Amino acid sequence: MRWKIIFNLIFALFAISLFIFYWFVPFRTIEFGMESGHSNFTLNDSDNGNMQFYSRMRFPSPQISYRIDNCPLQKQDNIEEAFEIISDITLLDFYPKNYGEEIYVTCDSKNRIEGGLFIAGEGGPTNITKTENFNVIFYGSILLIKESKCERPNIAIHELLHVLGFDHSDNPNNIMYYLSSCKQTIGDDIPELINRLYATPTYADLSFENVSATMHRRYLDINISVRNNGLKASEEAKVIIYVDGKNVEEVELDPIEIGFGRTIGLRNIWVSQINVEQLEFFIDAGFEELEKNNNRIILQIKED
Ligand SMILES: [Zn+2]
Repeated sequence: MRWKIIFNLIFALFAISLFIFYWFVPFRTIEFGMESGHSNFTLNDSDNGNMQFYSRMRFPSPQISYRIDNCPLQKQDNIEEAFEIISDITLLDFYPKNYGEEIYVTCDSKNRIEGGLFIAGEGGPTNITKTENFNVIFYGSILLIKESKCERPNIAIHELLHVLGFDHSDNPNNIMYYLSSCKQTIGDDIPELINRLYATPTYADLSFENVSATMHRRYLDINISVRNNGLKASEEAKVIIYVDGKNVEEVELDPIEIGFGRTIGLRNIWVSQINVEQLEFFIDAGFEELEKNNNRIILQIKED
């Protein structure tokens, strides 16, 4: 029966070594990584553009509203401290709102395990509109499951940065690494990117998307589409049509929400001259815009 004892011993040793491998080695490698190297999100400059889920993600305004729902005091403190920390190092400001908030925060009292790991929280943008300039975040939510045992509320900061569009980092020293550790920090490149994105003011931006015109005898048919690629709904504006420098038509443009557009079809506009050379379309907007240069388009006429 000696072989059985030896077998059991070998098996026990094997089990212990497995145990050590799974529970100690990963922690040691993380600690080792901490001492060497920086805490930036990106490990090298080449993947600098890939910090967010999509390119250029931001909320319309740097003043972002939130509502905390159903969270015990400790977790509420964690999330409020996370808002404070991010607003201290960036252009962003967060303020509470009872209804129609942009960031919704809720908490879960039950610990959850997935793939052998504790789920600390979940967070992300949940409503995004793509425009020419930005992927505009209208709404995001955070589910805080574990309260932070760290000096800083690292879990809440991690989830808040997800809501602001940030993906996971490959750097174990960075707070956006997929596993949480108290030694992780925000680094420099996250606040730098936030400040670059929010340096653009919260303006509307009306621009022509498509313009076509056909001339038949002395009549003009026109199709125009205008889109708001800005960070704010546009106000009342006008589209003015010039034929060889002469104002022939003005069309009222109602306010347009971010990312939305309008199409205008005009038939049989009478033109006094026979030979038309140039049509000019101009968006007359009496409000500030991200770009005024895209408010004018010039077309050469197509006879039929
Ligand atoms: Zn995460």
